Amino acid sequence: MSRLSDILCDYDPQLQEPLARLWEAASLVLMVLAAWEVVRRLAVRLMEESLTARAQQPEVWPVCGRCGRWLRSKGFQPRTLHTLFGVIGWRRRVGRCPKGCKGSQIAPLDQVLGLVPHQRTGAEVQWMGCLLAVFVPYETARRLLQQLTGVELAVGTLWEWVQQVGHRARVQLEGELRALAAGELPAVEPLAAELEALPLVIGADGVMVPFRPHPRTAKGKTRWREVKVAILARLGARLTRQGTRVTRLCQRRLVAVLGTIEELSPGLWLEAVRQGVRTAVQVVWLSDGGRGLWTVFQRLFQAVGAVAILDFYHAAQNLYKGASAWLDGRTRACQQWFADFRHRLRHGHEQHVLVELAALVEAMHLPESARQTLLNVYTYLKTHEDHILRFGALGT
Ligand SMILES: [Zn+2]
Repeated sequence: MSRLSDILCDYDPQLQEPLARLWEAASLVLMVLAAWEVVRRLAVRLMEESLTARAQQPEVWPVCGRCGRWLRSKGFQPRTLHTLFGVIGWRRRVGRCPKGCKGSQIAPLDQVLGLVPHQRTGAEVQWMGCLLAVFVPYETARRLLQQLTGVELAVGTLWEWVQQVGHRARVQLEGELRALAAGELPAVEPLAAELEALPLVIGADGVMVPFRPHPRTAKGKTRWREVKVAILARLGARLTRQGTRVTRLCQRRLVAVLGTIEELSPGLWLEAVRQGVRTAVQVVWLSDGGRGLWTVFQRLFQAVGAVAILDFYHAAQNLYKGASAWLDGRTRACQQWFADFRHRLRHGHEQHVLVELAALVEAMHLPESARQTLLNVYTYLKTHEDHILRFGALGT
């Protein structure tokens, strides 16, 4: 009689069936699934036991918000909730104004537990559902959630949860931004000492993101819209198995808006302050050389002594525009010229690149459109020559 299975069976005869399945399982998979069923039922029993005990605690009733009379207990009423472990049910006291004032009915235990009226699903299930919905379409998320938790949702429920969470997050962010605008700085996120010693890197760019044309449905043609994204991270390093030092982004934080660079700025500054932009040993700004993002650097980060670096990939992209305008992108000569110049750019020989680009622009035999493109590339790199120098310096 000392086997755990026997003890559990004695405790709750309803566990007999899944326990029998566990013992008779023909494979490990079936054993795990049967054990999971036992765990789920036990978890439900444990929670119901605790909730029932809590519900017995004497209640101090508040006064009615309408008429000021003391609320009075109407006795115990049932409550159910879909949780990660299945449906739990318990009874708790419900009180109401003796005059029957509208909206006076409360269940104090619900409030203590953080439940809102008419809530049918536990916050942990909503949390998981919203996380899934970040990565997969709603219908897939709904199915995954059912597989993972056994909770079956109506179509559209998940969509509503995401809306609610998004709304709450937005309200919170707006409050924080208002406080920041009023000169109230947010608390700096606590950092381990070794992370605090690392440079803070801030980069931003625009990315195209697919959107659904209508809410609640996947029907209709995808709409691509530009989202402005900024990333904030501490620039660390690690050694590979071969002993090579590679850079590594630690403490990554993202800020994104479906909107303009101007709309990105307040949230970016808020997060930058949180990530210690005012006290970091070194702050690095990384972006393309376009006027919009460069203005963000000048407006927000220059004053805190940030070092600006022209993002290598955008610089290389521009260089390629020049190469393909001059040598026709499909040719071998073009590929070689581009590879050669990109290499020089990457390794601190940007002055060679500038000199040769200038010479090309001067050359007489160029078609006018190619000359203009090369001139644009030259101007772009010349404007940012001080920001190219540091391509190789990062992370060393
Ligand atoms: Zn009342």
